[in-house]
Amino acid sequence: MDLAWVESHRSPESRSGLVPRPGERLLAGGTWLFSEPQPDVTGLVDLTAMNWEPWEALPDGGLRLAATCTVQQARQAPWPSPVLARQCADALLMSFKVQAAATVGGNLCLGLPAGAMIALTAALAGEAVVWTPDGAERRTPVAAFVRDAGVVDLGPGEVLRAVELPGRALRAPTAFRRAALTSYGRSAALVIGRRESDAVVLTLTASVPRPVVLVLPPAPSAGAVRRAVADAGNDVGWYDDPHGAPDWRAAQTDLLAAEVCAELTGVVA
Ligand SMILES: Cc1cc2nc3c(=O)[nH]c(=O)nc-3n(C[C@H](O)[C@H](O)[C@H](O)COP(=O)(O)OP(=O)(O)OC[C@H]3O[C@@H](n4cnc5c(N)ncnc54)[C@H](O)[C@@H]3O)c2cc1C
Repeated sequence: MDLAWVESHRSPESRSGLVPRPGERLLAGGTWLFSEPQPDVTGLVDLTAMNWEPWEALPDGGLRLAATCTVQQARQAPWPSPVLARQCADALLMSFKVQAAATVGGNLCLGLPAGAMIALTAALAGEAVVWTPDGAERRTPVAAFVRDAGVVDLGPGEVLRAVELPGRALRAPTAFRRAALTSYGRSAALVIGRRESDAVVLTLTASVPRPVVLVLPPAPSAGAVRRAVADAGNDVGWYDDPHGAPDWRAAQTDLLAAEVCAELTGVVA
């Protein structure tokens, strides 16, 4: 849709140009920004003009995804195993046109429960790299970066620069389960598991307002998984929107978590 209130558009090529002026909003892929009226936005600052490399390899075998890396580019990055990235990209149920424009950073900064790039990067122990307006940088785990539905850990003038994923998490076996009310519906519950040598790490998204990371023993019992999921729901609350009722989301998350643990550990509950 046209953003009728926008009067200016800047394409900064250096960091100093990212400092917003009154009424300005950062523009990444624009797939959300142009999807609804933005009456408080009078100027756009196009992040893609920074021309960041979509991804870079890290010395430990990890990956650094630029905030402007598109979902499509993220799919094509050199993952040790590309399966999880593809599963998460497809969980957004976007057409290929949207995947080509929507960015990893835009997905994280929107902070929607169904943000599948949030799920991917939280499940892989991702760290958000945030540029602060004084020229410094700070880091925070993705799971903490998203604080609530639509609420993220970004202060005025801060820019999400990248997400770094450690090599050890990328090399770990993972399992993915997703539930939605309809075949092509928005994610209502999404559980990703990662098997470490000393733990099974479950990441819950979509059914909860913010990512929840549960660190369980290497071969958790069915009861332990069930209790951990129920405690998480009691702690943060089950999300409620037209894509699923809270009690249904709780039940789906319980089921998916059990399936994920069974796949990763070979122990069927
Ligand atoms: C058909 C369709 C399906 C969709 N499905 C889903 C879905 O299933 N789940 C979901 O979560 N979303 C979904 N979306 C919403 C949205 O398109 C995605 O979340 C997308 O990843 C947003 O990325 P973008 O680059 O387009 O962000 P933009 O629209 O450009 O920006 C989104 C917001 O983030 C801010 N922002 C962007 N980048 C940065 C940065 N680096 N630092 C600070 N602020 C920044 C912008 O200022 C803006 O407020 C869907 C959209 C469409 C059109």
